[in-house]
Amino acid sequence: MRWKCVANIVRKYATKSNQFHVGIVGAGPAGFYCAQQLIKIIPDCQIDIIEKLPVPFGLVRYGVAPDHPEVKNVINTFTKIALHKNVRFIGNVTLGQDLTLSQLKQSYNAVVLAYGAEEDRKLNIPGENLSNVISASKFVGWYNGLPANKSIHENLNLDVEDAVIVGQGNVALDIARILLTPVDILKKTDITEYSLEALSRSRVKNITLIGRRGPLQVSFTIKEFREILKLHGVSTKFQNGQMNGIDELIGGLQRPRKRLIQLMYDASKNNIDEEKKFNILFLRTPILIEGSEHVKGILLSKNLLEGEKAKITEQKNKLKCDIIFRSIGYRSIQIDPEIPFDKLTSTVPQNTGLYSVGWLSSGPVGVILSTMSQAFQIAELVGKHFNEGLINEPKPGYNNISRLLLKRNVITVDWEGWTRIDKEEITRGMKSNKIREKIVDIDEMVQIGGNI
Ligand SMILES: Cc1cc2nc3c(=O)[nH]c(=O)nc-3n(C[C@H](O)[C@H](O)[C@H](O)COP(=O)(O)OP(=O)(O)OC[C@H]3O[C@@H](n4cnc5c(N)ncnc54)[C@H](O)[C@@H]3O)c2cc1C
Repeated sequence: MRWKCVANIVRKYATKSNQFHVGIVGAGPAGFYCAQQLIKIIPDCQIDIIEKLPVPFGLVRYGVAPDHPEVKNVINTFTKIALHKNVRFIGNVTLGQDLTLSQLKQSYNAVVLAYGAEEDRKLNIPGENLSNVISASKFVGWYNGLPANKSIHENLNLDVEDAVIVGQGNVALDIARILLTPVDILKKTDITEYSLEALSRSRVKNITLIGRRGPLQVSFTIKEFREILKLHGVSTKFQNGQMNGIDELIGGLQRPRKRLIQLMYDASKNNIDEEKKFNILFLRTPILIEGSEHVKGILLSKNLLEGEKAKITEQKNKLKCDIIFRSIGYRSIQIDPEIPFDKLTSTVPQNTGLYSVGWLSSGPVGVILSTMSQAFQIAELVGKHFNEGLINEPKPGYNNISRLLLKRNVITVDWEGWTRIDKEEITRGMKSNKIREKIVDIDEMVQIGGNI
C-alpha cells in the first residue's frame, strides 16, 4: 500500500505540465473544445490536433448548411484555440493510414479520439443500391464541398419532380430546404459552384418526408421547421389527416416540444396550394425501393405506435418517386484495429490515457453545444488522471510524430498553411460575390497549404 502511494507521487511529478503531451485526433468541434478546456485545466500542456483533411472544422465546414452562416461563427473560437502557443494543427494526416494508434500512444500522455461519425446508416432493404438513392451524408458533403463527395452529381439525376427523404431530423430538413430554396438565394452562401449549377437545373417540386413514428416523435426542431414554412412558393402538407386530434395532446406536452407541435398543428390547417409541395408522412417504414436501374417508387409499411416504438403492420402503400435521400443517421467506424471500439453502439468508451469525445463518444446525436459540453467533461477527466499521476510517464510528443510522418513522406498542413487555403477560397469567392468558393481537391489544398 505504502509502496503504491510512493510510486504514485513519483509518477505524478515525473512530468511537469509543459512535458505533458496530448494528441487529439480530429479537428471538429469536439477536438477544438477539448483542447480549449485542457489548456485551462493543465496550463502549459502541449496539444497536437491531428486532422485527416488539410483543412479544419469537421462538420462545421462540411455538415452545417450553407444558408446557416451564423452557426459557423464558432470557427472564430476554434481559430483562437488553434492560435494558442501550445496548440499545433497537423492537417492532412489520417489515423489508420499515416499513423497508428499504437504510435500515438507511444508519443502522447493522453490520446483523445475526436474523429466523429462519418458513415451513414443504411435502410438495408432491396433496391437501396439503385441509382438516385443517395445518403444524406454524401449529398450534404457534396453541396458543402467535401472532397470525397465532390463528384456524386455525375450519378445523380435532379431532372425529376418527386423526391422522398427518409428520416425526420434536422439533416432531412436541411436537404429539403436546399432542394426547395431558389438558387438566387443559395448563390450568396458558401455552397459549391458545381452544386449551384446542378441545383439550378433541378426540377424537384414534391418532397415527401417519411418517418417511422408519429408527429409527437419527430426529431427536427422548431427553428428548422419554421424555415421550411417560410420558404417562398412552397406549401407544407401533412398527409392522410395525420395531425387530426393532435391539438388535444398539445396541452400535456413540455416545452420546447409543445411549441413545435403547436406550430406543426397550425401549419396543418393551412390550405394554401403553392407550386412546390413539402409533404410530411408519419408512421411509415420503407420496405422496398422499386425500379430496375433508376428509382421508380418506394413501398412502405404502415406502422402503429406502441408507446414510443413503431410497430410494422401488414398494411402497405406505395409512393411514386424518382429520387430518394436516406437521412436516418450517422455512424462511427473503427479506424484502427487497436481502438477499443464498442461495435454495439459504434462508440469508443473512456480508458485511462485513451479518451473519446464528440460524436465518436456520445453517438451521432446532438448539436455543437452538446458536443462542447461533452468534450469539456472528458477534458476534466484527462485533468483528473493527470493530477492523480496516472498518465504522466515522459513521452516524446510531436518530436516522435514529426519523425514518423517524415519517414512516410507525408506532407502536412499546419495552421499557417490553412490560412493560405482560407485566403485563396475567400479570393475565389469574391469573383462571384460569395463568402468563399471552397477548394474541393485535396492535392490542390496541399499544393497551397502544405509544408512542401
Ligand atoms: C448535416 C449536418 C448538419 C448539422 N448542422 C448543425 C447545425 O446547424 N447546428 C449545430 O449546432 N449542429 C449541427 N450539426 C451537428 C454538429 O455538426 C455536430 O454536433 C459536431 O460536428 C460533432 O463534432 P465532432 O467533432 O464529434 O465530429 P466532426 O465535426 O465530424 O469532426 C470530426 C473530425 O475528425 C476528422 N477525422 C475523421 N477521420 C479521421 C482520421 N482517420 N484521422 C484524422 N482525422 C479524422 C474529420 O475530418 C473531422 O474533421 C450538424 C450535423 C450534420 C451531420
